[in-house]
Amino acid sequence: MISKIIAEDLITKAKKAIDSVDKIVIVAHVGPDGDAMGSTLALWHYLMTIEKEPVVIVPTPFPNFLSWMPGSECVLDYENNKEQSDKLIAEAELIFALDFNQASRMAKMADVIVNASAPKILVDHHLHPDNFANITISYPEISSTSELIFRLICRLGDFSMINLACAECIYTGMMTDTGAFTYNSNGQEIYIIIAELIKIGVDKDAIYRKVFNTYSADRLRLMGLCLYEKMKIYPEYRAALITLSQQEMSKFNYVNGDAEGFVNIPLSIAGVDFSVFMREDTDKIKISLRSQGTFPANKVSADLFNGGGHLNAAGGESYLTLTETVKKFEDALPNYKDFLE
Ligand code: 5GP
Ligand code: MN
Repeated sequence: MISKIIAEDLITKAKKAIDSVDKIVIVAHVGPDGDAMGSTLALWHYLMTIEKEPVVIVPTPFPNFLSWMPGSECVLDYENNKEQSDKLIAEAELIFALDFNQASRMAKMADVIVNASAPKILVDHHLHPDNFANITISYPEISSTSELIFRLICRLGDFSMINLACAECIYTGMMTDTGAFTYNSNGQEIYIIIAELIKIGVDKDAIYRKVFNTYSADRLRLMGLCLYEKMKIYPEYRAALITLSQQEMSKFNYVNGDAEGFVNIPLSIAGVDFSVFMREDTDKIKISLRSQGTFPANKVSADLFNGGGHLNAAGGESYLTLTETVKKFEDALPNYKDFLE
């Protein structure tokens, strides 16, 4: 038996909301990752099984390494399907918002979702949720939204409705948001849930290979460039920084998702507890931050890069040039010395 994390009144409200409708839109954050796709698709499979009419809409396309996920072929991305998405959102009787805490994380979809007439249910594990939803199921102590979806379905009394496809999606999100159970993963019940998913038929080793071992040669060479030439270490601050310019990315035929995971690599160096990755996008610099132990990656992101996230995994953005962004970071690093263990 796993413990009842989600409050009873939220379960009651969610059940009532789901029971009374058919058309359900499920949305996630811009740049959907394994947990965004895992949680939305798991919920989609579940709602299909109980004979609802769900559709998953994500603000921007998901990376190729997630295209094996069952149901991903039915996912709409707002960027390329605006008209159809707007119609579905307008007709929706219920909207689930998964794996993000602020409406702005839906990027160009934010306004249309916030203003939609359908009631909204937020299911998420980031700190400080906005209150744009009618029902907010927010548990930052849980390491993935996919785990929360498992817990939600169970509490709705529908464990038996979790089919293999649904279980695979839940496992994928649990795995990706914990770096394959290497961080945020000391929760004992994670492993009880995994055991249940394996009983349903999930091949966890195969999912690991499908997510982590399907990159292109170009991606690996780009990683080589990052580690050989582009990684800077600040031993005094136990920090590392990797930057990638548009030019470097195009040299290696960069596609969406190719830099996934780069930010984690410097943490494998003895003496590095804080790692930052800056990637030059067309209109901004996208920044990923990771830490281990108690160093607050989310605080640095909030202070410097208009972002946020979790203690050990955060993100943000900068509208300065790449060089200016690096300078801002380096100038600020001494301010965080007290947070080092
Ligand atoms: P990633 O580095 O994988 O893009 O993001 C890591 C985590 O940081 C995400 O799970 C999310 O919580 C948070 N995050 C990423 N980008 C942003 C951002 O632009 N704003 C905020 N508030 N959080 C972000
Ligand atoms: Mn997540």
